[in-house]
Amino acid sequence: MSDKYAIDSHKLNFHPIRIAKWYEAKANWDKLKKIYPIYVEISPYGGCNHRCTFCALDYMGYENIGLDFNILKNTLTNMAEHGVKSVMFAGEGEPLLFKDLDLIVEHCTQVGIDTSLTTNFVPLNKKAVQKYIEHCSWIKVSLNAGTAKTYASIHQTNEMDFDRVILNLEFALEYKRKNNLKCTIGVQMLLLPENKNEAIILAKKCKDIGVDYLVIKPYSQHLSSDTSKYEDIDYSKMMDIEEELNTISDERFNVVFRANTMKKYIQKKQPYDKCYSTPFFWGYIAADGKVFGCSAYLGNDNFCYGNIYDNSFEEIWESEKRKESYKYIMDKLNIDDCRVNCRMDEVNRYLFRLKNPLEHDNFI
Ligand code: SF4
Repeated sequence: MSDKYAIDSHKLNFHPIRIAKWYEAKANWDKLKKIYPIYVEISPYGGCNHRCTFCALDYMGYENIGLDFNILKNTLTNMAEHGVKSVMFAGEGEPLLFKDLDLIVEHCTQVGIDTSLTTNFVPLNKKAVQKYIEHCSWIKVSLNAGTAKTYASIHQTNEMDFDRVILNLEFALEYKRKNNLKCTIGVQMLLLPENKNEAIILAKKCKDIGVDYLVIKPYSQHLSSDTSKYEDIDYSKMMDIEEELNTISDERFNVVFRANTMKKYIQKKQPYDKCYSTPFFWGYIAADGKVFGCSAYLGNDNFCYGNIYDNSFEEIWESEKRKESYKYIMDKLNIDDCRVNCRMDEVNRYLFRLKNPLEHDNFI
């Protein structure tokens, strides 16, 4: 298996200048407040056309609210001016339900931010998808089964949506090929007892239609989710499919079976006792405009620094609220209460090691 995009690890080590600034700042807030995120997740729209059985953000309520177009645009300009390098449009709802997201993505290119989309790829406007492919570094489609029947039961939608997603993928891949564009188009399946036997079917289908990669990742219980259906899921019984999946990968198509992350989920314990990624290297903008430092704590005031309807991103990021959040994370946050395998887990392992080097780390 090859994981050329380091999906099962992290890429913070490729940003040494930002890390050095953070490292040298030590506990000096005047310096630390200037450390802007490299990567920000944005939820442009709160509503969703599906109700996936595993949805971690079900507690956010799927409200049909969208960010204001001009405020979002200005926020992105301001973020770029301060060193934000990438944005993923995803979040609490389905990002493609946000009208004119294609223009926002185009704007990101103009201001120098790399963009990506994570989507169920059902509500697709063909003209818009062309712009997405022209401007996004990657698009990842959440497609959690190999057959329409299982798909419909996991996504809690009708079976026709499965065929629609395949057609939309074919359209997107054809447009990419014809125009010689670079956007990586991948598919993601969250591994569940219900779809385990369809992973191979899905991998073959993805390969046949020309998708670049299929990533198979484990579930992780979110602290605030309404659903706890898969809380006790046992991945030790599901690792056996990796071998057959690997035989489907070739030079053009990769199956990324996130075995490393699955093993960590089985261990259920982080090897660090402090989070150093928050509130520094990433951030999250919710569909109501609130800016959070960590996507595992959406709705929690300890991680909320302000709202883009009230202030610029710069004002929010350098605010007293963020300073309080930093103190909270340093002094009060109990990592045991954090989501196992949170988005920053690998980054945290790396940063913790920088702060707590091991005996032989100088023998480079
Ligand atoms: S969930 Fe992860 S990123 Fe968020 S505060 Fe906890 S350790 Fe940090």
